[in-house]
Amino acid sequence: MIPFNKPFFTGKETQYIQEAVQSGKISGNGDFTKRCQAWFENHYGFEKTLLTTSCTDALEMAALLIDIKPGDEVILPSYTFVSTANAFVLRGARLVFADSGPRHPNMDVAGLEKLISTRTKAIVPVHYAGMACNMDAIMALATQYNLYVIEDAAQAVDSFFLKKLSSSKEAIQKRVPLGSMGHFAAFSFHETKNIISGEGGMLVINDPEFIKRAEIIWEKGTNRAAFWRGEVDKYGWVDVGSSFLPSEVIAAFLYAQIENLDKIQKQRTAIWKRYANELNMLMDKGFAQLPVIPEYATNNAHMFYLVLDNADTRDRFIKHLKADGILSVFHYLSLHKSPYYADKHYGNELPWADHYSDCLVRLPLFYDLTTELQTKVITSVKSFFGV
Ligand SMILES: *Cc1c(COP(=O)(O)O)cnc(C)c1O
Repeated sequence: MIPFNKPFFTGKETQYIQEAVQSGKISGNGDFTKRCQAWFENHYGFEKTLLTTSCTDALEMAALLIDIKPGDEVILPSYTFVSTANAFVLRGARLVFADSGPRHPNMDVAGLEKLISTRTKAIVPVHYAGMACNMDAIMALATQYNLYVIEDAAQAVDSFFLKKLSSSKEAIQKRVPLGSMGHFAAFSFHETKNIISGEGGMLVINDPEFIKRAEIIWEKGTNRAAFWRGEVDKYGWVDVGSSFLPSEVIAAFLYAQIENLDKIQKQRTAIWKRYANELNMLMDKGFAQLPVIPEYATNNAHMFYLVLDNADTRDRFIKHLKADGILSVFHYLSLHKSPYYADKHYGNELPWADHYSDCLVRLPLFYDLTTELQTKVITSVKSFFGV
């Protein structure tokens, strides 16, 4: 069976975990945690990063930091993972779902402004498949209406927004890292993502005003981080918080992955491009849509997907590949139709979110997918369409 995903181990993980163990300190915020955080801050210019035990946790921290209260409204796509929504529902927020776009599952900015009300507190764009949302449009709305922006960058490590710097013909594009534009961003290192630590995540704090409080919430509502730096002479309970920081064992694992990021990205990109080249003909023949990379986005090769005509074709496609020993998988069930939220949903129709729920299917994409195995996948996909 060719799996849908297989975690990639760089070889250094166990060595670094051993170093962490031998250091005698394996609780959180130790040497490996600091090394990981410093790497992300230096490499992508993030103002401040804090490792968390998951992206879910990082989103929950962001919801605490902006003081979401019952009745506040948060705008997010319906076509996303539950954690994007749960973090805010836990604080009593009302969800307002944005539809996806016709060319990309990302939230469609064209319909965004009419979702904003006097109760809106935040917009949560999700960079689906690691491809940027239209951040210029989103940040402009956020500034105009005084809203927070929290980027769900779970899939978006090492991906960029291509910002136009001039409106002249030879407009210069600046590569702005995803996760650096919102007030906050949340990354995931779950084993299905590009770089991993089993479970794991990171909160990015781009607005320096929030850094102190973020550290406190991270450390169970105490000022322990400041205490370790010698800024206060005792530490105690100063705010709400929880246990959001991972142990050094997790951070050590992650550091090995970070060191190999370029190698991982190269390999994933090669696999992604081969899928695109070999399957492009399906689009020409009208059998399937291939991923569209928006003109303002880069591709970090997190995911390769096809969008088929309808749910029935998609289900038959998955069965066909399975019979050939290949696991392909559908993705999100739109949250506005979920058993938990359907009766709480405002009622706006979200046809494109439903479309991706019904028709999108993801193909195996992982570091160890050899050319030979990928050929099998491509052959099976083509044979489904009789080409
Ligand atoms: C994976 C993912 C999450 C959750 O990440 P965890 O680290 O498992 O909590 C949240 N949002 C999106 C868009 C994801 O892909």
